[in-house]
Amino acid sequence: MEEHILDWSFVPDRIKTIKESLPEGVTLVAVSKTHPAAAIQAAYDAGQRVFGENKVQEMTAKYNELPKDIEWHFIGHVQKNKIRQMAPYVSMIHGIDSYDALAETNRQAEKNGRVIDCLLQLHVAAEETKFGFAPEECTAMLEEGRWRDLKNVRICGVMGMATNTDDEQRIRQDFQAIYDFYTQAKDRFFADADWFSRISAGMSGDYEIAVCTGCNIVRIGSNIFGQRYYPEKSK
Ligand SMILES: *Cc1c(COP(=O)(O)O)cnc(C)c1O
Repeated sequence: MEEHILDWSFVPDRIKTIKESLPEGVTLVAVSKTHPAAAIQAAYDAGQRVFGENKVQEMTAKYNELPKDIEWHFIGHVQKNKIRQMAPYVSMIHGIDSYDALAETNRQAEKNGRVIDCLLQLHVAAEETKFGFAPEECTAMLEEGRWRDLKNVRICGVMGMATNTDDEQRIRQDFQAIYDFYTQAKDRFFADADWFSRISAGMSGDYEIAVCTGCNIVRIGSNIFGQRYYPEKSK
């Protein structure tokens, strides 16, 4: 257990440095997955209010334990049977990648008398993954139009990841593809929706490139909290 960090006093400076490097209008999601409540509290005490988690159960436990003015962003893969648990409090769901996930979020939001902000996750990176819409698949979902009847979700934009590579050109190209998709969707489907304005892309290793491309939500974990410790993977 020696990898466990008990002293989080380095966190405020790291947040300050990152925030100073972000242009106005860019939201920092502090990705706190795997880290204890004490780490989040240290960031909270430094003024950070937006946190990202990728496991519903872990996020809910932290929600219950920590100050109630924290905005919890779910950045993991959305499993339909887990939406119910976060629906009472989640602030934004980044990983919507099917109409069914959107419809189920709508159903659970309605039960809680809420409207939940969602982002459509796009898959543009080179890696094979079953997560995220292919851009043409997402366009088809939007053209099909059933989403317009879902009154308890608000589609606020798009989310994506760049290829995990050192090739900066490729990373730039991926972020550009996400941005271009956003622009086209805005023109075609959300021209009158002021809230459709968010592009969530960029992590610790590549957020500067994402910001340059026009992305306005960055999800940063290790640059704030240090390396994650996964006991089960001995990583
Ligand atoms: C873990 C995670 C991040 C943060 O990654 P870092 O490299 O630690 O900044 C961002 N986005 C998603 C979807 C993640 O799962």
